[in-house]
Amino acid sequence: MTDEIFTKPFTQQEGIPEAGIERAIEIMRSGRLHRYNLTDTDINDTSQLELEYARWQGVKYCIACTSGGYAIQLGLRVCGVKPGDLVLANAYTLAPVPGAIHNVGAKPVLIDIDDNYHIDIFDLESKARTTGSKFLLLSHMRGHIADMERIMEVCDRYDICLIEDCAHTMGAKWRGQRSGNFGKVAAFSTQTYKHMNSGEGGFLTTNDPDIAARATVSSGSYMLYARHGAIPDEPVFEAVREHSPNYSGRMDHVRAAMLRAQLPLLEDNLARWNSLYDRLHRHFSAMDGVIIPDRRQDEFYVGSSIQFRTECLSRSSIPDFVEACGARGVELKWFGADKPKAFTSRYDSWKYIDDMPVLPNTLRVLETTLDMRVPLTFEAEDCDLIAEIIRDELTRFRKVS
Ligand SMILES: *Cc1c(COP(=O)(O)O)cnc(C)c1O
Repeated sequence: MTDEIFTKPFTQQEGIPEAGIERAIEIMRSGRLHRYNLTDTDINDTSQLELEYARWQGVKYCIACTSGGYAIQLGLRVCGVKPGDLVLANAYTLAPVPGAIHNVGAKPVLIDIDDNYHIDIFDLESKARTTGSKFLLLSHMRGHIADMERIMEVCDRYDICLIEDCAHTMGAKWRGQRSGNFGKVAAFSTQTYKHMNSGEGGFLTTNDPDIAARATVSSGSYMLYARHGAIPDEPVFEAVREHSPNYSGRMDHVRAAMLRAQLPLLEDNLARWNSLYDRLHRHFSAMDGVIIPDRRQDEFYVGSSIQFRTECLSRSSIPDFVEACGARGVELKWFGADKPKAFTSRYDSWKYIDDMPVLPNTLRVLETTLDMRVPLTFEAEDCDLIAEIIRDELTRFRKVS
């Protein structure tokens, strides 16, 4: 037992690398922030970023946009989702995912999850068969990557177009293949809490030239798309440029400059996240009454947050447990609350969805799921103290059986 308090904030990111700050200031001084506002001699930061990200991700095409949620929405549209269409989606995700489906006028068909936070393959298969839906928006929620071979099998069998939400898996892999490179389109976020930070921002990536051209024009390129970095050749655009509505959602050069400075550090940062995650994982695995999902060898994850279940606590004591940890500086989020709080969300709080299904396993798993951010401003000893505080408080609140 300790009465120590943890004092570092769970919301503290690292600063933007100096090179990014300098370049962003230069751009601000020039006044040329808009991605198409370039003289002959200007560096086109946004377009360079698209090229660099596409290379890093191992895809042909990349479109930088205003947010991850925007990239999902655009991805759904360019994959052909129309108002009234059904879109399969795992129920354990964050609100921008069903929000993007709603925004295109489509209807989410929520799929149950398994005990390790992955989409339930059997429920997916069954709903693919009974609904006839031609789209799957798969959110690799909190970095837990489902068995992608089995997902692709179901998609192939039912002729389903896969759109990946990689907001939590930038840099993660399944059997050596980068998350985002399985589906037709992938969406990434560069919002402050993700793996790169430009405040707000996102990427749409794809290997399909037609989709890339339509996404570029629809992201708001006007007829200036040739100023993009990672796009298909002109003839592909000719076929689509006058048929693609402008859903204005571009990235600007200031954000691009911040991100270009971060990309070379990303690989290192992923390793730093995982060393913190693995240390916490070891602590949590040794705690009585705590269940922590197994991470399979096929999955190269990025541990920028950690989830665990407190089977040793009664449901009614979880809010008090979370509060007691909070009072000692350890910020946990509970996904089981009836009313969503801060960033948490349980699918049944998205009341705008018609015909809300009952997903017993999602409810059961989320009822005891606690979630903790792991910012890169933490160090190994911080993980030790956090774990010690959680262990103490678990002992205090443990059910008497
Ligand atoms: C953050 C997030 C998004 C949306 O990203 P924004 O850039 O905030 O719009 C989508 N899906 C998940 C799972 C997220 O966590």
